[in-house]
Amino acid sequence: MPMSADFAGTKLAGFIAQHRKLFVLTGAGCSTGSGIPDYRDVDGGWKRRPPVTYQAFVGDAATRSRYWARSLVGWRRFGRARPNGTHEALAKLEADGRIEVLLTQNVDGLHQAAGSRNVIDLHGRLDRVRCLSCERSVARADFQSELERRNPSWNELDALDAPDGDADLEALDFSTFAVPDCAACGGILKPDVVFFGENVPRERVQSACAALQSADAMLVVGSSLMVYSGFRFARMAREMGLPLAILTHGVTRADDIATLKVDADCGSTLAGAIAVGA
Ligand SMILES: [Zn+2]
Repeated sequence: MPMSADFAGTKLAGFIAQHRKLFVLTGAGCSTGSGIPDYRDVDGGWKRRPPVTYQAFVGDAATRSRYWARSLVGWRRFGRARPNGTHEALAKLEADGRIEVLLTQNVDGLHQAAGSRNVIDLHGRLDRVRCLSCERSVARADFQSELERRNPSWNELDALDAPDGDADLEALDFSTFAVPDCAACGGILKPDVVFFGENVPRERVQSACAALQSADAMLVVGSSLMVYSGFRFARMAREMGLPLAILTHGVTRADDIATLKVDADCGSTLAGAIAVGA
């Protein structure tokens, strides 16, 4: 049963007031208010077909054509998404010196766009494209222009937006879609994000662990923690004896270990909690 916004905000304000340095973990629920849909429903189940795996993307040219064709359409709106009240509230909390680090599972860069500086992009950033052979990185915006130039007939398409800059395009012949290789070495280009079936780079995990050790408490915002790469930080926090607050809609994988669970709208509740604490 969701709490009333006022009550939830008061409980959260108490938590934030009690702990000076927060380790914040954010997920898709932060960005739904910016028009980027979530993969999961309130019960933590898949709302749609699970995303492409690393193995399928790397191993199969047809899968890459399908991925980039959908991404060509999805990026138009994803690339223009703007931060919302949740991002702004967290940026303010950081400006007030209250955030040790903000670890995000989102790949949209909206925390940085809202002014957060101390951000670790756990799963990478969708605004970069990287060569799997020579590591050369190019801006997604430039890659988008190249995709459009090579596939003029696909520019007319539109589709329902899907998460991570994807779009729902089915029943189309993706084999005609031309995908550019790396201009430097001819290698396979991949969005600079961690795909399902791929490990998060070790240095990134180590930086986040170090930040967790310097924090007084952990705050999860807008994540069901269904993905292990995020969930493990909640478990680690509790093993270290840190209090854990979760603000999100619906069930999470860490509900049974949370110190405080607030089932409410992220943006308004967080903004209210910060206002109370100020
Ligand atoms: Zn290359």
